[in-house]
Amino acid sequence: MIDFHCHLDLYKDPIALLPEVKRLSKFVLAVTTSPKAWAKTSKVFQDIDCVTTAIGLHPEILAKRINERYDLITGIRKTLFVGEVGIDGSPQYADSIKLQEKVLGDIIQESENCGGRILSIHSRNAATKVLDIVERYSGKSIVVLHWFSGAANELDRAIELEAWFSVNPIMASSNKGAGAISKIPLSRLLPETDAPFAQTKGIPYMPWDTSIVTRQLATIFDMDVSDVNQVMRGNLNRLLSSTKGMRVVV
Ligand code: MN
Repeated sequence: MIDFHCHLDLYKDPIALLPEVKRLSKFVLAVTTSPKAWAKTSKVFQDIDCVTTAIGLHPEILAKRINERYDLITGIRKTLFVGEVGIDGSPQYADSIKLQEKVLGDIIQESENCGGRILSIHSRNAATKVLDIVERYSGKSIVVLHWFSGAANELDRAIELEAWFSVNPIMASSNKGAGAISKIPLSRLLPETDAPFAQTKGIPYMPWDTSIVTRQLATIFDMDVSDVNQVMRGNLNRLLSSTKGMRVVV
């Protein structure tokens, strides 16, 4: 299975999960919430072929971790995948909204300076703000909007801007989420869990639980599950091959 947005480092015992991850997962994008966590997590998972670790600075903790912003920018030069980054426009983060916007602009600009990056982006209550910044700075990078919950006109704009979308079981089981997914070209969708934050009946989803998403996509697009799985693998391969022109400083 493919899980394009999973906080693998935040499970209670990530190491204990690795045998099952290796057995069941084709690709897990292990997003991180801070550059310090990325430094540690990327070492822990470096020998696990199916796990790729992304450097992030989660918008919900950005204000507290702002002293790590330079580690973030220098880290972006060293890796192809960036996430979780973005903007959270919920009232509790209102104080840091300008800072969040500035940092996201810097992140995308640095990504472009490096020949592009693949970014997993959070946009809760801030879709327009995120899209403004994506439109202004991105070109070579691929933006994957994670758990997108914007309005219909924001979704249209994101599709127009050639964004990709990663979708999870919770999103796809709501009417609004399923409605949004039905408008997205299947060629720009990837499954995710956002686990362990995303849970079912108090139990975190597992990275391989994206089998739920591909079943949901099969229903939404009226396709066979095996065909959906094939399209998802093709999407992943296309995305990974787009990293060829991206430069990494080692
Ligand atoms: Mn997340």
